Order: sequence, then C-alpha cells, then structure tokens
Amino acid sequence: MSRQLLSVCKLCRRENMKLYLKGTRCESEKCAFDRRGYAPGQHGIKRRKDTEYGLQLREKQKVKRIYGLFEKQFRRYFVIASRKKGVTGETLLQLLERRLDNTAYRLGFGESRQQARQLVRHGLILVNGKKVNIPSYTLAAGDSISVRGEFKENVMLKRSIENFKKRGTPDWLELDATTLTGKFKKIPSKEEIALPVQEQLIVELYSK
Ligand code: SF4
Repeated sequence: MSRQLLSVCKLCRRENMKLYLKGTRCESEKCAFDRRGYAPGQHGIKRRKDTEYGLQLREKQKVKRIYGLFEKQFRRYFVIASRKKGVTGETLLQLLERRLDNTAYRLGFGESRQQARQLVRHGLILVNGKKVNIPSYTLAAGDSISVRGEFKENVMLKRSIENFKKRGTPDWLELDATTLTGKFKKIPSKEEIALPVQEQLIVELYSK
C-alpha cells in the first residue's frame, strides 16, 4: 500500500466514486465526495469528454487507489496475472484480494486498508499462528488470520470490529468475532469481489 501525501478524499473525487479510504468517515456526513462529488481543482466541476485511453487510465487508477498500491507494485500484479491461466482481469483482482493487508481489512481488523496495513507492519496479525509483517503476503485457501493476543483488547480494534459487523463478512471469508480469528476459505470470483470496476479496461491499457 502506497503512502498517500495528498488528501485521500481528493482521490475519490478524481475517480468520481467513493473509494472508502478513510474508514468510518466514509459513511458519515463528512464524506468529501458526498459533499462535493466533482473532480478537485479549478476545472473539476466541468464535464470532460473521456477518450478511450482516458477511460482505461481512470479504471486502472481506481483499482490501484482502492488497494493503495504504487504503479510499480500494481503493474507487477498485472504481469503475474497475465502469466497465469484464466481471465487476466479476474486473476488480477483475485491477487489483490489475497493480499494480507486487504484480507485483514475485510475481516474488520482495521477501519481502512491503510489502518489494516499498519497492523500487519507492526506484527499484530498472525497467519496460521505465525507473525507475518508483510502487507503484500499472498494468502491461500484455508489460511487462518488472527490478531496477536494482547492487541485483541485494543479500543480501535474493537470499534473497527463493530463497524465491520455492519458491513458483513464477504462470502470467501469467515470470522469468529470472539477469538478474532478469520479464515480465508477460498479464492473469490470476480462476482464475489463485486468492485464497481471494469477490469477489462485495465488489461487493454497494459496490453498496448
Ligand atoms: Fe472517499 Fe468519502 Fe472516504 Fe473521503 S470520506 S475517502 S471522499 S469515501
């Protein structure tokens, strides 16, 4: 996950959709996109005519920003996806979903992917009982993800889990909220991931 120095809300406004980068704030009336749902900058409010390249670029930027990756990291995922069997766009999304920081977020261990990444970096997330502090660690079906003992009582984590209960568990994961242990049951399909993106446009962009 990349370090974002600008206001992340500007990214949502640029992509013309809520990317949910700020946890609970995204659901509140303070959401910048809900208040100013147009692109940032002097000419942001004007309607722009997008070219084919522009549409492909925006779609790539959207996915990259949702998962918080740098261009180089994102392209590396694309290269891996394109070498695998199957539909490249779907494989790309699956690889991104299998990242440990993303899965920790999906399980409610953090109010945003950025926050979940911090927990991973600080060694507070265990995979199959062992500390893994690499946010990009790729999970496999059957892996268990849990929170390290003493951190289970953390106030921020408890609040995050409460908010997560409202969001619900994705079909490919399960969570035991008492022990704060989750399971990566299977690799999700594109339909299950249900991101409002056209991943085919990303494939077209990188295939030029
Ligand atoms: Fe995007 Fe709104 Fe969340 Fe800001 S608060 S990151 S604009 S969804």
